[in-house]
Parts: sequence; structure tokens; C-alpha cells
Amino acid sequence: MANTHHNLIILGGGPAGLTAGLYAARARMDHLLIEKGAEGGQILLTDWIDNYPGFPDGISGFELAEKILAQAKRFDLNSMFANVTSIELSETVKRLELDNGDSLSCDCLIICTGARPRPLGVPGEKELTGKGVSYCATCDAPFYRNMHVAVVGGGNTAIQEAAHLTKFADKVTVIHRRDELRATKILQEKAFANPKIDFIWNTTVTEIIGTDGVEKLQLLNRDQTTSELSVDGIFVLIGVLPNNDMLPLDVLKADEGGFIPTDQETRTVVPGVMAAGDIRSKEVRQVINAAGEGATAVLAAEQYLTNLS
Ligand code: NAP
Repeated sequence: MANTHHNLIILGGGPAGLTAGLYAARARMDHLLIEKGAEGGQILLTDWIDNYPGFPDGISGFELAEKILAQAKRFDLNSMFANVTSIELSETVKRLELDNGDSLSCDCLIICTGARPRPLGVPGEKELTGKGVSYCATCDAPFYRNMHVAVVGGGNTAIQEAAHLTKFADKVTVIHRRDELRATKILQEKAFANPKIDFIWNTTVTEIIGTDGVEKLQLLNRDQTTSELSVDGIFVLIGVLPNNDMLPLDVLKADEGGFIPTDQETRTVVPGVMAAGDIRSKEVRQVINAAGEGATAVLAAEQYLTNLS
């Protein structure tokens, strides 16, 4: 695979990348999808997806990823696992450097590198990650059977995963920095009705304390009062950061959060470079949007390649 050229390279194998792969493979384009870890991206961290159309009973994130991948493979998706360390976009031909020293090139690039959980950035967090500090309820909830855990955050992820945690934990305390949740009403209603979930409002976590595991949290209320909360674990679910280490952010004119702006057709400011899914600068980050943007990006790529030839 070293030093090969393709008309189209898709970088990332989450819902946006896999859908782009499906569209490119089905359109018989000369394509390559590059994924760093397992195909599926962030949905692999999602226990249950209730709002992806076509699955009336919902579907697990893992199964949805498997299904999109199988669908793309039916059309001979060309994919490889590799770690792209840098991208050069100054010429018409785009170049990607891999961590093994190989390089790849393409006429058109679709960036679908997604996002990752945002850390709290407080003392104790790094030291206790994997020892009671978690960013993935789907992965770690079963470790907390009959225990008391905290969830930090008030968005869809925090509230949905708090509900998931109640299948295992005895008590789930949601700690939110404001006095109202950002999560959609239907998730809020379910959480408020769940006897295992309680809320601490207007409060932030300032320190995570423990020796071999999480023992307690230091809390700071908006009124400047401090308190401690004894818990067996803490799930930090406070939004996402872009996976953009390998991207030339100045060339792509990334926004202040490091996400990549595009037009409606997913075209970035660089001709022949599209961005789709959670790496795009946007308000709404849903699986269905990511998939839709992956499809749009391939149609934009086809148009670009036609004009190029
Ligand atoms: P989000 O919507 O950005 O929510 C992040 C939450 O964390 C907010 O409540 C925010 O508080 C809080 N927060 C941010 N930084 C914080 C900090 N430093 N300390 C304490 N709290 C902090 O992120 P998300 O819930 O991960 O969702 C990401 C995207 O995926 C969203 O677009 C969401 O709609 C989507 N999603 C959808 C579903 C679904 O449809 N079922 C499920 C999961 C995720 P404030 O509210 O005060 O800003």
C-alpha cells in the first residue's frame, strides 16, 4: 500500500467516513478509506441509539457500525488501518504521511476524523483515569454494579449515559454546572423520573480524590461554597474535542475550537478537500448528520474530480 495514489482518500471510519466509503465504493470510484483504530468511531462508545431512522426498536452503537461497514464492504470498500501523522494540502495532489514512514497521495480528500471526549482538566483526573475516572459509560458501567457513581455534564451524552448507568449502579448523581440541562426534553423527562438518578446543580468538580481508585470529589457551587461527595466512580461526559492533530489547521482555516468550517456541500476552503461528521464546525452532532454529510462529501468529491479531468 506504500506510496500509492488514489482519486479519493477518506480519512476516518466513523459514521461519516463509513458512509462516504459506502457511497464511493458503490459509485466505483478509485478510493481508499483510512482508519486508525476500529471502524465505528464514537458510536462504539454509545450503548444504545434510539433515533437513527430505520431501526424502530433502536440499535446498539456497535451493531450500527457493523451494519454500515458490512453494507460498504458489499460494494468492495477499499480500506486500511494506518495512523496518518501529517497532511500536505498546498498542491493539487494532496499528500498524507503515515507513522510508519509511508506516504499516500490523492486528488480529493474527505476528512472524517471525528471528535473525542473532552476532559475536565482537574487534579486527580489523569492519575485516576481507568481507576474510577471514565469517559465511556457503555464501556465501564458494568464495573459499578450496586455502587454510587457521578456523571458530570448536562448534555445528551451525560443524561443518556446516566440512565444507562442505572442498569448497574445503585445511585447515579449528575453534577451540572448550571441549573438546567442542555439534553433534549425526552431524555430529561426520563432522567427526572428515574429514582436512581439525583442531581447536583450549579456545581463543578474541582478535584478527584483517591489513592488506588476514586474515593470522593471536591465540589464547588456557584455561590462559592465547597463540599465533598463520596463516589466509587466518575463519568466525565462534557462534550467533545476535535481529532485534528494531523490536520494543517491554518490552511483549513479551523475555527477557534479546532473544528473545520465547510460550505453546505461539505467543501472546505481548500479545493478538493471536504470535511464530514463531528470534525466539521457546526452546532448539531448527531449520527444521522454525520452519515448524511459523508454522502454529501462524496457527491462533492465526484463533482470536483469530474471538473479536474
Ligand atoms: P454537549 O451537548 O456539548 O454538552 C456538554 C455538556 O457538558 C453541557 O451540559 C455543558 O454544560 C457541560 N460542560 C462542558 N464543559 C464543561 C466543563 N468544563 N465542566 C463542566 N461541564 C461542562 O456534548 P454531548 O452531550 O457530548 O453531545 C455532543 C453532541 O452529540 C451534541 O450535538 C449532542 O446533541 C449529540 N448527541 C446526541 C444524542 C442523541 O440524540 N440521543 C446522544 C448523545 C450525543 P452547559 O450546558 O452549561 O454548556
